[in-house]
Amino acid sequence: MNIIFFGPPGAGKGTQAEIVSKRLQIPTISTGAMLREAIKKETASGLSAKSYVDSGALVPNEVVIGILKDRLAEEDCKNGFILDGFPRTIPQAEALEKMDIRIDVVLSLEVSDETIVERLSGRRLCASCGNPYHVKYNPPKDGSRCDKCGGELIVRRDDDPAVVKSRLDTYHEETEPLKAYYESKGILKKIIGQEEVADTTKLTLAALGIE
Ligand code: AMP
Repeated sequence: MNIIFFGPPGAGKGTQAEIVSKRLQIPTISTGAMLREAIKKETASGLSAKSYVDSGALVPNEVVIGILKDRLAEEDCKNGFILDGFPRTIPQAEALEKMDIRIDVVLSLEVSDETIVERLSGRRLCASCGNPYHVKYNPPKDGSRCDKCGGELIVRRDDDPAVVKSRLDTYHEETEPLKAYYESKGILKKIIGQEEVADTTKLTLAALGIE
């Protein structure tokens, strides 16, 4: 199954994608995580993406589509994949179609702007493996280090409140129109984001028919 997780920054796409990824044994492909990795490694794509990511703006299509195309060509995507954070604009959705990538379902996580601002202020990320946490909703087991690799938990630079506001503006202007785009194709399913991660997961698995 080829799935898109759609929604504003901080809606819980990464967290839900990770859970579905384990259940279906298909990889999650997060363009944001790949860009952060490229920036850390100072690759050519990373260097051209850095200023956009730091300010909460969208990275130019040629950079992000190039990274995604290479990743989708890898062997582990043959039986399906989950996209988290892509597409973010109609031209990006059209680029997927041009690559002959068929999408089965788009899960739209519906969360208000107010909740997003509250959530992002508590979000943490493992500095080593990138696994996401939240101090209140999804804390690490020992309270301070990554459950998966023991790495240090940090605050993402673009979770700074001023940058969050700009990311939300970008979401409403450039990304939200994709909802109507996928609704017209009959593959959009809306999931009302719940306070507890487990409750959103229940709705997500039900929408995928894999309760
Ligand atoms: P995310 O981890 O999905 O919140 O993405 C973090 C940042 O990476 C975004 O604010 C953008 O700067 C950049 N980014 C991630 N995915 C895309 C995309 N599909 N198109 C353009 N920029 C992206």
